Amino acid sequence: MTGFDLHTHSVFSDGTTTPQDNVRQAVELGLDGLGITDHDTADGFNDARSAADGTDLELVLGTEFSAEHHGLSVHVLGFWIDPGYAALSDELARLRDERTDRARRIVERFNALEIDVRFDRVVELADGAPIGRPHIAQAVVETGAAATTREVFDRYLADGGPANVQKHAVGPDRAVELLVAAGGVAVLAHPGLYGGRDDTDGIEVAVIEQMVEAGLAGIEADHPNHSAEHVSHYRDVARALRLEVTAGSDYHGEAKANRLGSATTPREVVERLRGWRRA
Ligand code: AMP
Ligand code: ZN
Ligand code: FE
Ligand code: FE
Repeated sequence: MTGFDLHTHSVFSDGTTTPQDNVRQAVELGLDGLGITDHDTADGFNDARSAADGTDLELVLGTEFSAEHHGLSVHVLGFWIDPGYAALSDELARLRDERTDRARRIVERFNALEIDVRFDRVVELADGAPIGRPHIAQAVVETGAAATTREVFDRYLADGGPANVQKHAVGPDRAVELLVAAGGVAVLAHPGLYGGRDDTDGIEVAVIEQMVEAGLAGIEADHPNHSAEHVSHYRDVARALRLEVTAGSDYHGEAKANRLGSATTPREVVERLRGWRRA
């Protein structure tokens, strides 16, 4: 298998594997490169780097930045960022704090729906990582109120769901601006998956155009949860806007069915992407 899986999560956010595990899998698959893109943090990168030492695997330091547009989540992948760049690291730190407050409010909503999920248990499951809805969904499954985390999202936790509370996040164009200012390259993650559920409407092209103004370099048109129509539509959008097309698995270990390496970006595209970095 060749190419770069540019989108993977670890225990540094809501994945269940360590960054070292992700590296090992990528090496076993023979991938050329691997992106570590935890939600709102780049803290998993050092562990990945030690594991990749002495292998041919090229690592891409990244993050999946949580933004929001009109009450809907929009995720922006940032590659090769300087995680110490203050304007970015301040915003990421604020977002992580915000995730804790929001988790508390989501738990209250579940409790009001007579689902006895406990905030302490959610914190325990997150184990120091920025708290995400998948942690909460898992805690809800443990109460017996739903059989799977999928069911928790469908009934309660998707954007617009009765138990969801949005993060106070910046807009997608501001997210791009911060990632670019931090020396990185910004790519719109899974554009077909916004609007509440995996299979509903994607993001409006007008929003993508604002992101382009802010320096967007690419669109993740290839994503395991995209339909064939999403893939071809967003490939067309990318072509029209002169953007790169990237692919990644959005691997979350056992927290999601997506397998590492199931979508990869060719090396030549990665090289072009690197060329988008502000000098
Ligand atoms: P958060 O960052 O807390 O908003 O949670 C985002 C994560 O929740 C994403 O990485 C997805 O894996 C998961 N997620 C969001 N919406 C859904 C959905 N409708 N169905 C299943 N998983 C979802
Ligand atoms: Zn996630
Ligand atoms: Fe995402
Ligand atoms: Fe992701």
